[in-house]
Amino acid sequence: MLKILLLFFIPFQLSAYTILLDPGHGGEDLGAQGVLGKEKISEKDLALELAKKIASKISKKHRVYLTRTYDKTLALEKRADIAEKLSADIFVSIHVNASTRKGAHGFETYYLDHHKDAAVKKIESIENRNLKGEELVVHQILTDLIVDRTTKSSRLLGQAIHKKLQRGIKRKYNMKDRGLKPGLFYVLALTKRPAVLLEIGFISNAKELKRIKSSKFQDHYADNVAKGIMAYLKVLKKEKPPLF
Ligand SMILES: [Zn+2]
Repeated sequence: MLKILLLFFIPFQLSAYTILLDPGHGGEDLGAQGVLGKEKISEKDLALELAKKIASKISKKHRVYLTRTYDKTLALEKRADIAEKLSADIFVSIHVNASTRKGAHGFETYYLDHHKDAAVKKIESIENRNLKGEELVVHQILTDLIVDRTTKSSRLLGQAIHKKLQRGIKRKYNMKDRGLKPGLFYVLALTKRPAVLLEIGFISNAKELKRIKSSKFQDHYADNVAKGIMAYLKVLKKEKPPLF
């Protein structure tokens, strides 16, 4: 059964949009792993913490849902089903990066599109890794169709969020801006709507992990993502006025 939680019930204006936030991984799928002192930290937990913070910052103006509100296993297809059931206007998947190079650091924002970047392919193989064989082929075909339809809006959404992160996070924390990049993430394609995937920072870098674990940083990060989402929705409203 699909369990969806509307975080805060407020009578919304007709201009309100439906935003679906997707904390990456969950349950048996821990995502990337890091160590802080003696504590083991999982990507799935950081992603959920961040998603909840972002949700609380946009829920006064828009309907915000999470694909999962607690630690549970959730297939990529199920996440897309939720987007479909809610008729979500946008989908934002939240992740934490990892690299075998301990020094790798910084934040990056992905939107769904084709590319030839080998470094990005590595990240994709990690985030897409629950799929194999026939499933993968089907998803590749689907991805081609969806890319054509959604890339423009996904890029605009990515630009809006990344711009706020550049202003708010890069300077304040002297954090490396790894850029706004195209990537083929199946979870984005499967949702069939404007969608971005955020990599907050690197769990494999002890210094950066300490930062992204702190609630002060998380608040600032969430604040900027929320501002970016709102900025995108404002443009959307101007381009496509409501019917009433
Ligand atoms: Zn991930």
